[in-house]
Amino acid sequence: MNFERVAGIEKSLIRKMFEKANDKSINLGIGMPFCKTAESVKNYAIEAIKNDKTFYTPNQGVKELREEVAKKNSDELSLELDSENVLITNGATQAIFTLMFSLLKPGDEVLIPDPGYPLYKTVAKMLKCNIKRYTLLLENDFDLNVDETSQKVSTKTALIVLNSPNNPTGMLISKKSLEAIASLIKNEGTYVLSDEIYRGLNYEEPIPSISSFLPLERLFVVSGVSKEFSMTGWRIGWIISSRYNISQILKAHMHIISCISEINQLAAVAALKLKFQNIRDIMKFNRDFAVEKLSKIPRIKYKVPKGGLYIFINVSAYGNGEKIANLLLENGNVITIPGIAFGEHGKDFIRISFGADLESLERGLDSMRRFFSYVTV
Ligand code: PLP
Repeated sequence: MNFERVAGIEKSLIRKMFEKANDKSINLGIGMPFCKTAESVKNYAIEAIKNDKTFYTPNQGVKELREEVAKKNSDELSLELDSENVLITNGATQAIFTLMFSLLKPGDEVLIPDPGYPLYKTVAKMLKCNIKRYTLLLENDFDLNVDETSQKVSTKTALIVLNSPNNPTGMLISKKSLEAIASLIKNEGTYVLSDEIYRGLNYEEPIPSISSFLPLERLFVVSGVSKEFSMTGWRIGWIISSRYNISQILKAHMHIISCISEINQLAAVAALKLKFQNIRDIMKFNRDFAVEKLSKIPRIKYKVPKGGLYIFINVSAYGNGEKIANLLLENGNVITIPGIAFGEHGKDFIRISFGADLESLERGLDSMRRFFSYVTV
């Protein structure tokens, strides 16, 4: 059959919500900080154009950027990294696709979170892998349940996907759980993909990483500048792993995408060198603002997120998440995302993003409060 790999792939519920919305809808759906790129970063990119940085770069990425990424992550993850441990990709999205494409074969088992970022499932499906899911429950602070997850890990498990801070819950995998998961990985053929794209947006405590417990030979850490530096449109992400693993993924990467625009890679160098934290501070303010507003809405349940951009709200006292998200859009003109978009365990939830500018956030949350005051069960 033609197009067999994509035959079962449907438009995401996230997309569908945006298609139902209009120009005036208040956007609490999209997962990005509203902040514009820093002037100094823009100027660096403009200089790059003027200096004719307009040619192909090495497939793996420009050395200067790989060195900056290695330095940043050596500090944050207490690893000893150099530029050969890093592959520059077109955002974290392409990092996830290319590493799963390189690593996995049809029939391999892939363990992903429920609720979890939809990309993992879509890629695993395209690669004809067997998908298993471990659950993250509100009652457990959306931490991974070690007993349940252990039971799902077998000799057939090729990849375990972790995402902390998590999209859509904003919560973390505890150090204890990470240590337990690492100890499960005795089988030679099992790897971990740790999606740490929200690591830089942490609001309370340092975010533990499985990299403290697992050697790089078995681990891929994925991240990028999209969220921490509010540079979603520059499309710069990366994979960190052992030299050998990177050399294997590079074989696919060079044929899929060749390389990333040097202008954008140099803009990322500027962002990493600046080490600014104002996006995190702005997002922390927004989080606190959103939580204060939500506290006025009766009978919803949520956890105050420790990182990332989202609050995952249990609305089961009013209806299922999909129904409520649709009603909120129709009656309150606010875009939220039905939790079912992230897995079965999200069905009673909606996800809001506090990445919006403060005015939109206020209007959206006020509209939600009004909506929940009159919606009948
Ligand atoms: N991983 C997670 C958990 C995300 O939420 C997102 C974007 O929303 C990505 C990866 C993709 O990031 P990028 O924009 O760098 O491709």
